Amino acid sequence: MDATSSGLDTKLIHGGEPEPRILGAVAMPIFQSVTFEMDAGEARGGYHHGARYIRLNNTPNHEVLHRKLAMLETAEAALVTASGMAAITTTLLTVLTSGDRVLAQRCLYGGTHGFFSDECAALGIGVDWIDAGDPGSWQRKLSPSTRAIYVETMTNPLLEVADLEAVVAFARAHELVSVIDNTFASPVNFRPPELGFDLSIHSCTKYLNGHDDIAAGAVIGSAEWIEKITRRLNHLGGSLDPHAAFLLYRGMKTLGLRVRHQNESASKIAHFMAAHSAVSCVNYPGLETHRDHERARKLFDGFGGTLSFELRGGRVAAEQFMAAARLPILAPSLGGVETLVMRPAMISHAGLSPRERESLGIGEGLVRLSVGLESVEDLLADLDQALQKCSSTVCGNPPSSWQ
Ligand code: PLP
Repeated sequence: MDATSSGLDTKLIHGGEPEPRILGAVAMPIFQSVTFEMDAGEARGGYHHGARYIRLNNTPNHEVLHRKLAMLETAEAALVTASGMAAITTTLLTVLTSGDRVLAQRCLYGGTHGFFSDECAALGIGVDWIDAGDPGSWQRKLSPSTRAIYVETMTNPLLEVADLEAVVAFARAHELVSVIDNTFASPVNFRPPELGFDLSIHSCTKYLNGHDDIAAGAVIGSAEWIEKITRRLNHLGGSLDPHAAFLLYRGMKTLGLRVRHQNESASKIAHFMAAHSAVSCVNYPGLETHRDHERARKLFDGFGGTLSFELRGGRVAAEQFMAAARLPILAPSLGGVETLVMRPAMISHAGLSPRERESLGIGEGLVRLSVGLESVEDLLADLDQALQKCSSTVCGNPPSSWQ
């Protein structure tokens, strides 16, 4: 397979596969072995030299994923991890050391926000929050010890799209490492290394695996950075299990089909919601009315399968809507084949104080919908009946079952 001329779907199927195939196996077998026999020459090379061991992230199941992921985002190398948070924290703990500072986008996934706000101070790492949509304000936050800038492709849960070209230019001008969480877009819709980002991170738990059955993460970038992050991961121990690696590999084969379908369904649902009288606002970068629509259109190949919205009846209406919806499952996470719904204030951003959430624009009544692979007509009909059940609600106390 020619990596430079092949399309994304060809890379998903054939990219990074072992050559020759292992015993002719068309699907990559699971190597459920923690350790691998060495020959005498390898063993003489000293600790780790030539050793294959699950925690060293170098079994055949790891390596096929590393090659495939790097190819998908047109980068030199990649590393899979035990979860998205393992990828985020291991990357940050490689890029930053005590005494360093990082510029971080103000509205981030709750777990990442928590790491920056709760853990970094104890590690001697300073965090300066930035409005990633306002490049003119970044210079003021810069200090001689700033080492990195951290953003998300589309923020969770408001789906804002930062000025990503400006992030890359700013990082280059000030010799910062640019790090982006590309989970929401997936490599189908956006490939950060092609724009010039140093490191692209994924929670593969979401779109890359896509079946809500494993936790996994990945970081993609230059061979030099990935080698350093791998050494850190080898010490921190957040390695992906081979069985989970196999499931991720299998899930990735259909990534293109899944994400394009999800893009299309989410777009239809966002337009339907935006026109509904019970809905006061919809956050989806594919909507022409979205603040960052033009930027998203320029940078992305699709607008993603996740949207969020506010109902006129606030939190009570949101809870009644979620209870009335039959197809969407009330659960955290996103990017899988099942449509999932939840209130960020209740789940993904529950760790933030109400004041912090309010300052980020995450209201109590905000609902996030991760659109799955169900027939979009069925989803629309179901969302419509659920909206009818809550459209007359006005703000008040939540039903007792939710308290
Ligand atoms: N990044 C984003 C944007 C997420 O939404 C999540 C989880 O929801 C993570 C990272 C963390 O991923 P994981 O749950 O695989 O650790």
